[in-house]
Amino acid sequence: MDISSLFFKKAQEVMPGGVNSPVRACKSVGMDAPIFVKEAHGCYIYDEEDNVYIDYVSSWGPMIVGHSHPHVISAVKEALSQGTSFGAPTWKEVELASRIVELVPSIEKVRLVNSGTEATMSAIRLARGFTERKKIVKFNGCYHGHADSFLVKAGSGVATLGIPGSPGVPEEIVSNTIAIPFNDEKILKKTLEKEAKDIAAVIVEPVPANMGVVPPKEGFLENLRQWTRELDILLIFDEVITGFRLGLGGAQEYFNVMPDITCLGKIIGGGLPVGAYGGKREIMDMIAPDGPVYQAGTLSGNPIATAAGIATLDILTRPGVYEMLEEKSAALEEGLNEVAGEFGIKCRVQRIGSMMTGFFGKDEPVTNFDDALSSDTKMYGAFFRQMLSQGVWLAPSQFEAAFVSLAHGWEEIEMTIELAYKALEEIP
Ligand SMILES: *Cc1c(COP(=O)(O)O)cnc(C)c1O
Repeated sequence: MDISSLFFKKAQEVMPGGVNSPVRACKSVGMDAPIFVKEAHGCYIYDEEDNVYIDYVSSWGPMIVGHSHPHVISAVKEALSQGTSFGAPTWKEVELASRIVELVPSIEKVRLVNSGTEATMSAIRLARGFTERKKIVKFNGCYHGHADSFLVKAGSGVATLGIPGSPGVPEEIVSNTIAIPFNDEKILKKTLEKEAKDIAAVIVEPVPANMGVVPPKEGFLENLRQWTRELDILLIFDEVITGFRLGLGGAQEYFNVMPDITCLGKIIGGGLPVGAYGGKREIMDMIAPDGPVYQAGTLSGNPIATAAGIATLDILTRPGVYEMLEEKSAALEEGLNEVAGEFGIKCRVQRIGSMMTGFFGKDEPVTNFDDALSSDTKMYGAFFRQMLSQGVWLAPSQFEAAFVSLAHGWEEIEMTIELAYKALEEIP
């Protein structure tokens, strides 16, 4: 038995499914055991048997500057030497918050939390407190973390495992969640108009990445913005993935559509647990201690995590960073399309910036969750396993994104394309 299988066996005895987050178990791609990671440097990840893989999981998004980046590691080490948590304000929190306010166009004030889930959960509490309305609208296939209200037709692991909702979530709670198809303006308009006086907020991943990457149709976000504004409904952009991924100002800057509240996570923690939610001053001032909406956290604004976040933003604010990510990602997309073409395999590669998904079995654009769900997940699983054995680590699900980082060199991009060719050769 190899080391990963041994470790996984023990893990399954002591942890549900042997993992601390469901998709890591790699069940949907037909693996008996996931790889156990020992360390990672740049765009390379090493398992416990010292096998090496080019990494496109990127810890599910955060590692945009690559693993163990010297600047991030030295910032973390320096912070560590000063203590790990104080439960009192530190200058680093102010510094990270200032950067976020400066760079994300719609954020005037921001509260730091410990995860994306905490950010979205707190954002809808704030929206409900501010509007004094109960309902929220979400889109099928969008994932907003695992808080009760969002576990309705959710993406990511919920989609991968085919879970319709979740036991343990009271009906009374999800009866306040309206889930509608992404990219469907007719249904959106009708829903908003019909329920306007009860809807506190619409929450959306401006570019959904948790059903695989599904870009918004032209005008969709603009209309969403206009209609919510007209009906005094708050618009929440869940930019936990797109924030600092599509550019320094995230998807809101990319599409020039400004939400009322923005949720962040992943990249702003540089690989440590951080989330954030921010928005217009008048809304954010509703939060305790300035206002009555309660939200708190023992480790919020943790000095090690904020140090890693600030160091990551240091690197991302260097000139040419996003252009470089775009060039390499475009080359990878083009290469993969060529390879699929040579084998006559239906695979629709959808990309925006440095995030992309190849939907197997598709030759038309994938525009919503139902589209995505009808992909050939068996074929994805076969491709995933072949790529893994060739030394490329992709997301272990059809319904996730591959992330290109600054550490992916031209050499690795070319190698990935060659290995994709080899992988397809091996699939019967
Ligand atoms: C990952 C993710 C979350 C949840 O963040 P966690 O840190 O895993 O709690 C929320 N929204 C989106 C869009 C995400 O991709």
